[in-house]
Amino acid sequence: MTAQLDPRGDVAVLVPAAGAGVRLGPGAPKALRLLAGEPLLVHAVRRIAAAPSVHTIVVAAPATEVEAVRAMLAPAAPVTVVPGGAERQASVAAALAAVPAGPEIVLVHDAARALTPPHLVESVAAAVRDGHDAVIPVLPVVDTIKEVDATERVLGTVDRSALRSVQTPQGFRRSVLVAAHRSAGDALTDDAGLVEKQGIAVTCVPGSELALKITRPFDLALAEHLLTTGA
Ligand code: C5P
Repeated sequence: MTAQLDPRGDVAVLVPAAGAGVRLGPGAPKALRLLAGEPLLVHAVRRIAAAPSVHTIVVAAPATEVEAVRAMLAPAAPVTVVPGGAERQASVAAALAAVPAGPEIVLVHDAARALTPPHLVESVAAAVRDGHDAVIPVLPVVDTIKEVDATERVLGTVDRSALRSVQTPQGFRRSVLVAAHRSAGDALTDDAGLVEKQGIAVTCVPGSELALKITRPFDLALAEHLLTTGA
């Protein structure tokens, strides 16, 4: 059954899903790889649609797969699908341009974080609603981190207590994200990075282990296991 989005919701969620996913090995674009028989993107969109504040979902699909992605997602939730770009940043910009008037909070969520729970979507949106311009979900860094040179010689040990591992969805006041993309220069790996360059404060909220980024074959195996335990 198709989840109904809430027309009174104040949140649009952009899902860049146009990456090739070479680190997962050869095959379909990453967002379309199967996890327990369904594409990662379907898992991700179903969880976003279950978050009560969501008004609109816009997916940026590989340009050659727009129709297929539309058909694939129709049973999960009402979504708008647009062609993505050559870089993640271009895919996000294309999705942002397709957000209708209404939602004043925009979240950007990687399709590769397919098991992200709806409550994380809500907690990021709530922090923006509470007045923060830009909000990112984070986890503490558990490994010791070393800085190395080009020959793998250790230069020093970084104080990990001051480091955070950053997830998505990242949330923004709509006008802040629009302005950041309008003046974007070099492609960055996340949207908060663009906003930081504008000198705007970015606030952290607790992330979720379930929002892991499914990047390598090991992550896919872990995600399959998590699904069997009810994720
Ligand atoms: O490549 P990476 O893992 O950082 O990609 C993060 C997210 O951005 C993925 O969901 C991927 O599909 C998306 N992406 C995109 N357009 C691109 C490259 C990546 O939508 N050109």
